[in-house]
Amino acid sequence: MTAVLAEGMTLSRLHAPTLSTLPAAVTENLRRVREAAAVPVMAVVKADAYGHGMVAVATAAVAAGAEWLGVTDVAEGVALREAGLRVPILAWLHPAGIDAPRAAAAGVDVAVGSVDELRQLAADAVASVRVHLHLDTGMARGGCPVEDWDALLRTARAARGRIEVVGVMGHLPCADAADPRANAAAVLRMRQGRDAVLRAGFGPLLVHLAATSGALTDPATHFDMVRVGAALVGIDPSETVSLVGASRLTAPVVHSAAVPAGTVVGYGGTHTTAAATHLSVVGVGYADGVPREIAPGAGVEIGGERHPIVGRVSMDQIVVDTGGRAFPRGAVATVFGPDGGAVPSVQEWARWAGTIPHTIVTGIGPRVKRSVA
Ligand SMILES: *Cc1c(COP(=O)(O)O)cnc(C)c1O
Repeated sequence: MTAVLAEGMTLSRLHAPTLSTLPAAVTENLRRVREAAAVPVMAVVKADAYGHGMVAVATAAVAAGAEWLGVTDVAEGVALREAGLRVPILAWLHPAGIDAPRAAAAGVDVAVGSVDELRQLAADAVASVRVHLHLDTGMARGGCPVEDWDALLRTARAARGRIEVVGVMGHLPCADAADPRANAAAVLRMRQGRDAVLRAGFGPLLVHLAATSGALTDPATHFDMVRVGAALVGIDPSETVSLVGASRLTAPVVHSAAVPAGTVVGYGGTHTTAAATHLSVVGVGYADGVPREIAPGAGVEIGGERHPIVGRVSMDQIVVDTGGRAFPRGAVATVFGPDGGAVPSVQEWARWAGTIPHTIVTGIGPRVKRSVA
């Protein structure tokens, strides 16, 4: 093996593996959501804004006109308040339970999806907490089942003073269907739920059902607001609207070599070079979120061209066959980004790994440096 030396290159520090968040893409994506949905937008920034940085994405979305922010628990909402964000915030999952005093103090609305959860909230509230009743609209994964709506509404009436019902939410089960017929049952259930809550004497109500797919493809799902997360970062599960990827993952070539035909590459020797070629080792692996199971043809961009990954993905590195081109240590590989052409998109990575783009962007490991472009 002959190491590749950088001709005329001076020694320089390597560019550490970096995930760059691109706020301008968030701005553009929100504009495209607004073209499809004429109602207020809740920017959903749970799971660290799908791995893109919660505060960076929330700030960009609010600057671009998002009226609400959405998270899974009150602590995230408090972090947004501490970052200076002043728009209404809703938290809906509460995996650690609802901290009622904190929600009231920080002005974070909570969605409540069961009688039990609502009783607990009313018991814990020291100041009135703003509540959105979360009704199951057909997903059986959260939200109060229709059989329990009456009990939920009785509980809510009894808790008046400690809670204030300000909204009703559902969730669409067909998150990647571009076909409105797939949403019709949930839309009907949402209307029934809204009417039941109004009949119980609550109102005015903010009614919200749709996430990205409904927001982009089905106006019947829009009600008073759409809750959009994936679209903000460039993911359209319905694959009907072109959006802009909001992050770029780059990593350095840490080692480079010219190898003869017949060279066996990586763990398990799953790849043998067919001809003399150049290999570049890129310092990013499955611990950083590069999927280990990928289809042949997966690649990264180096030097303006796409080059295939060969052999197994390791914990900390991948090996790239750059053919006739030799790249020195320190060259920068782009694993994914919105650039198009030679740079793979997150959607391509999802296809290579047999998954959805969401799992690619939320899976970037903690040792990858974060930056905001
Ligand atoms: C995650 C989530 C959303 C946002 O979904 P996207 O498809 O990413 O836009 C909306 N509502 C609820 C309840 C969610 O959990």
